[in-house]
Amino acid sequence: MQHVPRASHRINNSMPLGLYISIPFCRTKCSYCNFASGVFSKSAYENYVGHVLEDIANSRQLAAELGCALDTSADSVYLGGGTPSILDAAQMLRIFAAVRGQFAITPDAEITVECAPGTLTPALIETLLQCGVNRVSLGVQSFVDQEAQSVGRLHKRSTVLEEIARLREAGLHNINIDLIAGLPHQTAESWAFSLSETIATGTPHVSVYMLEVDEDSRLGRELIAGGARYHAHFVPNDDATADFYQQACEMLAGAGIAQYEISNFARSEAESRDNELHSNESLHNLKYWTRQPYLGFGVDAHSMLVVDHYEAGRPMAVRFATPDSLDAYMNRAPHAVTPVSAQAAIEESFFLGLRLNRGVDLESLCRDFRLQQNFSRDAVAVWKSAVEQSVQDGLLEQQGTTVRLTARGRLLSNEVFARFLAEEKVGTGT
Ligand code: SF4
Repeated sequence: MQHVPRASHRINNSMPLGLYISIPFCRTKCSYCNFASGVFSKSAYENYVGHVLEDIANSRQLAAELGCALDTSADSVYLGGGTPSILDAAQMLRIFAAVRGQFAITPDAEITVECAPGTLTPALIETLLQCGVNRVSLGVQSFVDQEAQSVGRLHKRSTVLEEIARLREAGLHNINIDLIAGLPHQTAESWAFSLSETIATGTPHVSVYMLEVDEDSRLGRELIAGGARYHAHFVPNDDATADFYQQACEMLAGAGIAQYEISNFARSEAESRDNELHSNESLHNLKYWTRQPYLGFGVDAHSMLVVDHYEAGRPMAVRFATPDSLDAYMNRAPHAVTPVSAQAAIEESFFLGLRLNRGVDLESLCRDFRLQQNFSRDAVAVWKSAVEQSVQDGLLEQQGTTVRLTARGRLLSNEVFARFLAEEKVGTGT
């Protein structure tokens, strides 16, 4: 049975870590992609892997320099990117050997590798098994070939279905499918088709993201500045994309794939095809939302560790991140380090907790932080009017001391979070 973090907000020094390793290489650059990833020659892969291995070996030293505790065990490992499945077998095996050399991976650990459909050859699947991988996340984005091709994806619907079958034959059943709402050419009908296909695959986990429009992707820039090269003129408008998101929530719920976070959905235990008793929620991602310690390696990798000896008035935890460019990372540019005060930690718990459908119990949040009576009241009181207003506006619902986003609130989550941040500024007089 897989362990799912309870809704505890206080992190401590003896929690198994989540480990993240970023592989920033891709076969092509998708037009919507705003990640720190790109197309590089194969010779760059080897140097990069060598650098990541050094960082893994030095992780204890780094934690000590930051005054942080580092557990020796890890119960989740996530190879993301980029396209980790682009590495050759020897490189992938070396990464996992280095991880196991530094950390005791618990027997029930969730070990995920993100894979681009079209790369899952029998040889790669064999390598994944040798590495102990038990979960595969597939960047499908759309089951409609025209939509996938219009943003530069290299696979077809048939490839995805073949590779899911191949993974299952090899015993890898724990599969996630990523979808994007708002791709060029998408319509309510084509989106319903992608969702139906996703449901029909029977994978235990689905992630649904709405197309992000920003300056960091070619399609985003075209949507802002105009143009037709990346099919911006075929991108559905914001209202249609919002409708697609709601459509996804409804269709997935109807198929027994329950939403547990703004973008994430998992089959309930009873619905799971393999019928074993386990949670299909992503243990690794839950670490981020429940503020459990995690350590990232490679380009644009984020970490959060608890400080070794907490004293009142000092940071409780430290967040740090590697550079988001390959050059800067390879040239050993320093980490960006952000100490997390007790006040910041309680705020993080609130905002991250709201992302989860189970919401945040304000009483237990205060209790978990063992805050002084006055502080707990102040910390929570500052959100009171934003909670009340958001409940009135149908964005939040409150049950006893627990608050959670409504379906509409999840759609407009950034707007809800902005309300609380504005309240905090008023409350703290800044
Ligand atoms: S979306 Fe994924 S596969 Fe495409 S460029 Fe970005 S990281 Fe690479």
